[in-house]
Amino acid sequence: MKLRAVRNLRLCTKDCLCLYVCPTGATDTEDSVIDADKCTGCGMCANACPSGAISMVPYDYPVQQKKTESVKAAILALAKSKSDNEKAALEAAENSDKPGLKKLMKAIAKSERLIAEDLMREGGYMLPQSKNSHDLLKTLIADPPSASFPLDKAKELLRLVKCNEEEHEGGRYRCSVCFTEFETEKGEEAVCPMCRAQGDDLERLKDYEN
Ligand code: SF4
Ligand code: SF4
Repeated sequence: MKLRAVRNLRLCTKDCLCLYVCPTGATDTEDSVIDADKCTGCGMCANACPSGAISMVPYDYPVQQKKTESVKAAILALAKSKSDNEKAALEAAENSDKPGLKKLMKAIAKSERLIAEDLMREGGYMLPQSKNSHDLLKTLIADPPSASFPLDKAKELLRLVKCNEEEHEGGRYRCSVCFTEFETEKGEEAVCPMCRAQGDDLERLKDYEN
């Protein structure tokens, strides 16, 4: 898997080991963002960093794991309640003239937001590259939830982050792991019914391509 280094600026203590070990100078930039064009993915900077500020991430993310519909529905319902709580806490902060209560309500709103975000990731929106996330963005762009919704940013995100899931065409496949042949419907993901192999382990049979 092709990797590249990214730096978490919040953890970086600046001007230390990665600058010395990087063979290409990719870590030594004016804005502290590792230069993706120079990075070869060797990982030396991540191993050397004393703050754990550098992570190696893949260029192409694997397709997101599927959740069962019932689990997804329960998680998303919980996320909605957290989001409602956040809104209520923000309103309470807005309407209060007591500084202590204001502060407490803002802290609660923040905590509800963080839990809701985590739940959304668990509920099928882990990767911005996933089809789920793309479909959600398209829905929000078509029908913005509020006047303050950042429409331009949402459109830009959709343009910059490419979807890593293809529409499944359906057809006949042969599994190269257990040699089972099977068929899928249009829109159905190809997974071997015998050994659960998928992706590159499956060969799409030619007579189905026309
Ligand atoms: S992974 Fe290697 S090439 Fe890339 S920034 Fe780190 S040290 Fe430099
Ligand atoms: S080694 Fe880590 S802490 Fe030091 S400059 Fe590089 S990223 Fe920052």
